[in-house]
Amino acid sequence: MRRLALLGLLFLALPAAALDKVALQLNWKHQFQFAGYYAAIEQGYYRDAGFDVRLLEADGKTDPIDIVLKGKAAFGVGASELALRRAQGDPVVALATILQHSPLVLLARQDSSIETIQDLAAKRIMLMPHETELYAYLKREGVAAFQALPHSFDAGDLVAGKTDALSGYVTDEPFALQQAKFPYHVFTPRSSGIDFYGDTLFTTDALLRSRPERVAAFREASLRGWRYAMQHPEEIADLILAKYSSRHSRAHLLFEAREMARLMQADLVDIGHMLPGRWQHIAETYAELGMLPADFSIDGLMWTPGPRPLPPWVLPGFVAAALVLLIAGAVTWRFIALNIRLSKEIDERTATALELGTARRNIAALLDATQSFAALIDHDGTILLINSAGAARFGGTPATIAGCNMYALSTMAAGDGRRAAVDQAIRERRIVIHDDERAGRRLHNTIVPVDGDDGRVHHVAVFSEDVTERKLAEEALRDANLKLQSQLDEIRALHATLEEMAVRDGLTGLYNRRYLDETLEREIARAKREGHSLALVMIDVDHFKRLNDTYGHQAGDQVLVAMGELLRADTRTEDVACRYGGEEFLVLLPHMSLEAARDRAETWRAHFAGLTVQHGELALQTTISLGVAAYPNHGHSAEELTQSADLALYLAKHDGRNRVTVFEATPLAVDV
Ligand code: GH3
Ligand code: MG
Ligand code: MG
Repeated sequence: MRRLALLGLLFLALPAAALDKVALQLNWKHQFQFAGYYAAIEQGYYRDAGFDVRLLEADGKTDPIDIVLKGKAAFGVGASELALRRAQGDPVVALATILQHSPLVLLARQDSSIETIQDLAAKRIMLMPHETELYAYLKREGVAAFQALPHSFDAGDLVAGKTDALSGYVTDEPFALQQAKFPYHVFTPRSSGIDFYGDTLFTTDALLRSRPERVAAFREASLRGWRYAMQHPEEIADLILAKYSSRHSRAHLLFEAREMARLMQADLVDIGHMLPGRWQHIAETYAELGMLPADFSIDGLMWTPGPRPLPPWVLPGFVAAALVLLIAGAVTWRFIALNIRLSKEIDERTATALELGTARRNIAALLDATQSFAALIDHDGTILLINSAGAARFGGTPATIAGCNMYALSTMAAGDGRRAAVDQAIRERRIVIHDDERAGRRLHNTIVPVDGDDGRVHHVAVFSEDVTERKLAEEALRDANLKLQSQLDEIRALHATLEEMAVRDGLTGLYNRRYLDETLEREIARAKREGHSLALVMIDVDHFKRLNDTYGHQAGDQVLVAMGELLRADTRTEDVACRYGGEEFLVLLPHMSLEAARDRAETWRAHFAGLTVQHGELALQTTISLGVAAYPNHGHSAEELTQSADLALYLAKHDGRNRVTVFEATPLAVDV
């Protein structure tokens, strides 16, 4: 009664044609983001509802919510931070959510130093203070030590390298970056499970309390504007350019329109729709991140329609009807209550069904992204979900194969193997890997048990990858590798043999002259360095020419072989015995004194003199002469030392052969 009286006074006080002058505080500059409000003005929806609306652009400095709270605007456009502010005690009321998902993202330069959101730690990020969901996102991803820069509102600063990342609307800034062909990352809080509402029309408790029906009328006119705008995006783009701002090109505005349509999901959800659960989730996320206390409350945040004002003539009818209604009241009330409960439930179920439908389509798209078999089955093998590649293996499509039994579709043997693997995964509650072969194809199967809410395994995800080509390639590669390895081994062995042959004498198996010459140089250098002695023994078979002439060349060879055997058997490992040429041998004895060398030579001489070399029927006997020289006594170079040994040998021949002669410093007395 009192309210009706007040309303009556209000109507009397105002001229019939006077419009409510109200301001709507936007949270950004004029662009397609506010299309619905322009449409509501242009189409006369606000005027019809009795409003003269002024749109205020955000100045980028003052929080739009604060402007509305201070009473400088009756309505405002905010986003998820409305939940934060309400829980913090600010009397804001969300009237209608326009963007079902927040467009707020972080846009970052794309290069080797920035690949994931975590790479933004210690980087420069342009952020606005009220973009709380981005703070929540960074906090959840553990990015703490970034350097916050004041926002320049210019995506060009990212291109110019003045910042590493900046906050922006996915509906807006990417357009400029795409135009500039600048490679960028979009890091969205949704990837971290923060799925907040985007732009939401709001007002204050005070206005709602004092003029609930005007608030409802403003809300309704705004939503009419939005429905019109989303059906006529081109017209609104032209309107913005003509009347509000030419800051963005027409193409840019239409890009924004398309992206917004995606986030509004107007084909699934009525524009303006809000669910208490979503607002609760937003506030809980803030609480979880320590931005709100655990016992926060957002009561009163969400607008619910109040009673509409009744025309005065209804009152008498209402009184009469009330009497009738009172009689039937008890019965009717039960039905009404039931009805309300039912329609609420239907609303919730419809919303859930829509969300489920979206989830199903998302999963199907995800599964179809792979060429491998992917399916979800229950205990008995009934296929609940299957991707196109999987269905194709059974010769069908996801629609025709879903509901069939996987084992019944498989050939007997393959089905049995897979069933055993699935049973094992369920029994042991762990992922089972199982390889099998089917129609000549090799399959790598991964069986993943899926726990239900009760903690038991209800479903099993089956992934099967055709690895035939990969396996064949692997095997071919392994074979080729083995073959190559054995060829390499052969080449190495051959190389070693060749190396050995290059330094050996073919007849006796002793080292050749070239090898000795090299070794001698080295050993003399070492003896000089380390200060020890070294000896050389030169050996020549006596009257060898005669032996050749008498018994033949082969008999001579036999004697040379015997000489080789003798030296090989009676030298140390560090000694180098070589066939120096014809029937001449030279033995290098490192670390050996002259006296010791002479003793060695004497042993060889005696041994050889006592030797009988068998050549067929022939028993050959011959002798050798030996010359001994030593470093440092008889020379300081290879040449001097060999000459000395040679000269000593010459003296041995001269003195009658079959003897050992040590070089003496004055051999020139000898008659050559
Ligand atoms: P001396 O006691 O003075 O050393 O007499 P000699 O006959 O051994 O003298 P000389 O060094 O002149 O003779 C070497 C002979 O060795 C000449 C050559 O035909 C023979 N000869 C060289 N190389 C070989 C070979 O590989 N096999 C055989 N059977 N004879 C060789
Ligand atoms: Mg000779
Ligand atoms: Mg000789």
